[in-house]
Amino acid sequence: MTIARPMPSRGTGSAAEHGGVTAAREGLTSVEAARRLAADGPNELPAARRTPAWRLLLAQLTHLFAVMLWVAAVLALLAGLAPLALAIVVIVILNGVFAFAQEYRADRAAQRLRELLPARVQVTRDGQLMSVEARQLVRGDLVLLAAGDKISADLTVQIGHGLAVDESMLTGESVPVRPQPGADLSAGTFVVQGEAEATVTAIGNATRLAGIQALTESADRPDSPLTVELHRLVRIIAIIAVAVGVSLAGVSMLFGLGLTKALLFGVGVMVALVPEGLLPTVTLSLARGAQRMAHGNALVRRLDAVETLGATTFVCTDKTGTLTMNQMSVQEVWTPAGTVVVDGEGYSPEGSGHGPAAAMELAVTAAAGAVACVRGRAVRKGDRWVAEGDPMEVALDVLARRLGATVVDPSQVTERVSFRSETRYSAAVMPGGTSVIGAPDALLPYCNSSAVAALAAVDELAGRGRRVLAITRSTEPLVRDGRLDLTTHVLELLAVVGLEDPPRTDVQPALEACRTAGVRIAMVTGDHAATATAIAREVGLLLPGGIVVNGADLPAGDEELGALLDRPEGAVVARVTPADKLRIARALRARGHVVAMTGDGVNDAPALREADVGVAMGASGSDVARASADLVLLDDHFASIVTAIRLGRATFSNVRRFLTYHLTDNVAELAPFAVWALTGSSIPLAIGVLQVLALDIGTDMLPAVALGVEAPGRHALEGPARHRRIVDRALLFRAFAVLGATEAFLSMTAFVTVLLGAGWRYGDTPSTSSLAAASGTAFAVIAVAQMANAFACRSETRPVTRLALGSNRALLVAVVVELALLLAFLGIPQLSHLLGGGWPSTTGWLWAGGAAVVLLTVDAIAKNLRRIRGQRG
Ligand code: ADP
Ligand code: MG
Repeated sequence: MTIARPMPSRGTGSAAEHGGVTAAREGLTSVEAARRLAADGPNELPAARRTPAWRLLLAQLTHLFAVMLWVAAVLALLAGLAPLALAIVVIVILNGVFAFAQEYRADRAAQRLRELLPARVQVTRDGQLMSVEARQLVRGDLVLLAAGDKISADLTVQIGHGLAVDESMLTGESVPVRPQPGADLSAGTFVVQGEAEATVTAIGNATRLAGIQALTESADRPDSPLTVELHRLVRIIAIIAVAVGVSLAGVSMLFGLGLTKALLFGVGVMVALVPEGLLPTVTLSLARGAQRMAHGNALVRRLDAVETLGATTFVCTDKTGTLTMNQMSVQEVWTPAGTVVVDGEGYSPEGSGHGPAAAMELAVTAAAGAVACVRGRAVRKGDRWVAEGDPMEVALDVLARRLGATVVDPSQVTERVSFRSETRYSAAVMPGGTSVIGAPDALLPYCNSSAVAALAAVDELAGRGRRVLAITRSTEPLVRDGRLDLTTHVLELLAVVGLEDPPRTDVQPALEACRTAGVRIAMVTGDHAATATAIAREVGLLLPGGIVVNGADLPAGDEELGALLDRPEGAVVARVTPADKLRIARALRARGHVVAMTGDGVNDAPALREADVGVAMGASGSDVARASADLVLLDDHFASIVTAIRLGRATFSNVRRFLTYHLTDNVAELAPFAVWALTGSSIPLAIGVLQVLALDIGTDMLPAVALGVEAPGRHALEGPARHRRIVDRALLFRAFAVLGATEAFLSMTAFVTVLLGAGWRYGDTPSTSSLAAASGTAFAVIAVAQMANAFACRSETRPVTRLALGSNRALLVAVVVELALLLAFLGIPQLSHLLGGGWPSTTGWLWAGGAAVVLLTVDAIAKNLRRIRGQRG
């Protein structure tokens, strides 16, 4: 049984080299593939059925609070208050449409994000290895599968080497199956081990997955912690609102209000106090954050990961591709007979090797053997040579071409063992023996006497930041049952190659930004300790005082492990296994860190899930890792993690900003009812239910949204993350006890003062006109104080005077609209009559203006007190 490794053409005469390649191994011709694509359509799995828009809108109009309002409207109508009924109906609809629009926009944004990362598949067409988008697969295509791949269509296995497939998403069976040639593979499952060549039998709607998906609506994920917390908050407020509403309805009946009116009143209070618009606005805010992250090449797969990113305090990053460019080239080949230096540019096969003849001979043999073990190839695209497959493997292919090595025809390879991060080697059996390549420390113990000299070469190469790989062979077929047997025969060491992989240029500033932001970093890599250390020093990840340790030498206890890595100077963990990664994530979390962990391999999924933010690579890396990640880096770049953290923090503060703003006026809205009831109606009701709704849904709405989408500030990464959760005690205290209490006090004082000025005395029933003027004043005080509050909420630490006024344009516009609405509510007779508040006198307006000043002063004092307390603590 053989597996085809299509070799890209190497100029003239290549046809003879590939004499053994049959038509089947050539795959479809691209002409035929294009024809089938046109005939059968793209390979698109049917999307999970989406709830139609009208149903979503209907849901917003029929949830509990909306129903309460509908009841209120009917009651109003029955009570003969037609205009009130109409007003309530308008409000339910406005609020419903607003919430719907927010949810819908957030949903759309999430949808667009998903489309940014199309699945890709490796196929052979025209005898050439290439990667195509999964949707371009056609029936009959020859697909190459490797560990970590997601299967994108129904396939039949032609040839497999140690193939194991996880079908749990289809069958629920968690033990991987081991398909033999002839077996069927289903779209939607994952390759967890080995490799295979398979042909496409069904695509799109014809796949088994499509049949199953049509039956089951996509299973919902469990709610995120943020959603749970917000629901709790809304529920608590709702319970308070209902309690207050019911007791006020009771009290008002005692005061002789008719049953209908009392009920109306109670329902109104409940609805007024419930922050219905809150959840959609949070969602929208997170979606905006996610969109901004996508512009920074960081794709979040769950919206609430935006919150977690904002709270991240520790990043565990791998090296290859994330800190380095993942553009590899072999520059030196060490052999027991001397060193060969190789020159050439990029992935171009042009170049040559220089060294002693005996060394050259070994290097050529080694290169040929190495290429037999891997499948990455350099291919020509236009006038450029690019990597098709893993860059390190491609570098080996390029090496072989530069040295002019005659590569074994893929059809000659009878058995393969593919690379796994636990074993760190790969092997190929062909006539005449086995080629084994891998990390030197994994192979040298099984090698002949040259190994001792090789150790020094490895240290020297690794010390210069080169990735090292040992190339060995044996005359025996060492593979049995898909496993490499190293115990019975000694390997002959042919060469150790040093691969250069330069660090990315902007990694250094990104790491510095992390330091300023109090985010600690550890490099967690499968590579050699010396290589890892050299790179870590070069990019500034490892400072004097940092630690370097091998995965095998990590302390056994999680506590010691956490303490060892948790240091500001940085840490390097080399030669890690996926199990080590899992432990590292767990140990750091146990120390209270919010951990982001990168992973690309097929076995990294548990570590990605254990971390608070699992980070997978979009360009390289396996589909399996991507499927369990919270964040996918479209460009694999470390700096994109830092961008994501910065935007996460910005979004985090945005949501806190508008939550504070939105919750503040609840206290001011509740106060009039409480005062009215507690004084046995001796103090009249300062503002009515409709005025409360006008504040909540009219004047407050736009500033809240403007705060929720404020652009990320320059300061987002200055200093450590302050809050772990968006909703915490500090926020609730500030909204309710500081800002809310001030607003409530101001509006009630203004109300009573205006009444007193009009000749009212405690316990009297005021005249209609003086009540209207006083109520209008109370309303204006709250609305104007909220305008000031909008600016106060822009920062949790800095008083308004220290903020640039114009840096949030949307907020300026929103506040102007808020003012216009306020003037309309008070100045248009029909509206003010309906709401129940009149145009305030000059004194009334002075109260309103004064309220803004007082609120900002109180806010500044509270911020300063907190700062002083913070400095002491
Ligand atoms: P990293 O954390 O840098 O991604 P890996 O786990 O991918 O590290 O690789 C670790 C080591 O395994 C490499 O330094 C190299 O020696 C060896 N190695 C990597 N890829 C292969 C492969 N395809 N075949 C054999 N050995 C490999
Ligand atoms: Mg790797």
